[in-house]
Amino acid sequence: MALTTGETFWDKTAEAARTFPPLQQNVHTDVLVIGGGMSGTLTAHVLAKAGKQVTVIDRGAVGEGSSSANTGLLQYASDTMLSEFVDRIGEKDAVLFYRMCLEAMDELTELAGELPDTAEYRLRDSIYYASSEEDVDKLKREYSYLKKYDFPAEYLSHAALQAEYGVDKPAAIRTWHDAEVNPYRFIQAVTEKNVQLGVSYYEQTEADLHSLEDHMIHTAAGNRISYGAMVLATGYGTVFEEIAHLASITQTFALATEPLEEPLWTDRVMVWETKKPYLYFRTTKDGRIIAGGLDEKSDALHEDPSVIRSKAEEILKEVQDIFPQADVKIAAAWNSLFGVSRDGLPFIGPSQSGADVYCLLGYEGNGTCYSMAGAKIILDLIDGVTNEYAAIVDPGR
Ligand SMILES: Cc1cc2nc3c(=O)[nH]c(=O)nc-3n(C[C@H](O)[C@H](O)[C@H](O)COP(=O)(O)OP(=O)(O)OC[C@H]3O[C@@H](n4cnc5c(N)ncnc54)[C@H](O)[C@@H]3O)c2cc1C
Repeated sequence: MALTTGETFWDKTAEAARTFPPLQQNVHTDVLVIGGGMSGTLTAHVLAKAGKQVTVIDRGAVGEGSSSANTGLLQYASDTMLSEFVDRIGEKDAVLFYRMCLEAMDELTELAGELPDTAEYRLRDSIYYASSEEDVDKLKREYSYLKKYDFPAEYLSHAALQAEYGVDKPAAIRTWHDAEVNPYRFIQAVTEKNVQLGVSYYEQTEADLHSLEDHMIHTAAGNRISYGAMVLATGYGTVFEEIAHLASITQTFALATEPLEEPLWTDRVMVWETKKPYLYFRTTKDGRIIAGGLDEKSDALHEDPSVIRSKAEEILKEVQDIFPQADVKIAAAWNSLFGVSRDGLPFIGPSQSGADVYCLLGYEGNGTCYSMAGAKIILDLIDGVTNEYAAIVDPGR
């Protein structure tokens, strides 16, 4: 199943990736991680650092699933506002969930500090603007909750937004502790660290998810892997029965421009908005704009490159309506599957498919943050340690 159509971008910014051989014998491992995307990579890292013996298998190549379609805006705020979560799951859990994300952001930043600069991880402020006058009250309510619980946020009036950023929108919330990243190179860098920590990798090795027995699974090629615990970090390609009532697969569009010579906007802030589906964009180290939006409900990706290009032109036009100086051509445009959940929360925790099997499925736009938070939750669950966030994101909720 194709996860992306159109042109890829991040893989072209990287050196040839390290490759790993397919699994060709039966093996035993303490923890088997299925999937070498952002979720599997961070899980392997957190578990290996905690002293576990970890094996990662991927049916394709590490980092080449949805993670290489990721536009790399890392933010503690979710697609669902804190105030919306308050109405949906209650104030206590809403605040816990946002705190989980803020902590995950700080953990990502700490990890990035140990990686080479090739991961292009940069702390950036975000501005979340009201798309219309009608959304200003919603934004004010959101700000009041963020402030009440000390999240790093500041309200910007129309005048302040114009003066500081030249953005003509009714109002915005500025947040910090956010970051931008080159997701493909970040995964490559963490994978290198994982190999040093003793993690075993096998590519072109598909787990036959129907072959699951007690603490054992077969690969499509017929090899047997026995494990103490298993983590399903399989991305959007399989919607497991146990979450099907809460999850769906949609699609979205993204683009990368050619590099811009002129200076970009103030502090190269990352920008997004209250309207849904929302426009969002950021810059790269070499002065490109990465932008996305125009989500569609269907999971049938467009194959025609001219359709994908014209969606990307629409997105770029929206960016140029805000920053007219961003007069630049599109270098790559892509159309990707995207997992969403009905309650806005990811699926992290025990799977019903077997004893000691866990899911790490970071549905919704803040996937990288969920990958990091999820890795820590799964470590605690494996070790039998109480984790205050686990119940909120439990796939069986
Ligand atoms: C266009 C787009 C923009 C996005 N922008 C952002 C953003 O700005 N910020 C953000 O935080 N998140 C963003 N996301 C979300 C983010 O990309 C995802 O949360 C993240 O990639 C999920 O990682 P993953 O490891 O779960 O999935 P993947 O990267 O898809 O990895 C799953 C891996 O599992 C492997 N696999 C699947 N089944 C099997 C099997 N049976 N056996 C062996 N291997 C298997 C696949 O080959 C794949 O490599 C975006 C997503 C898209 C599509």
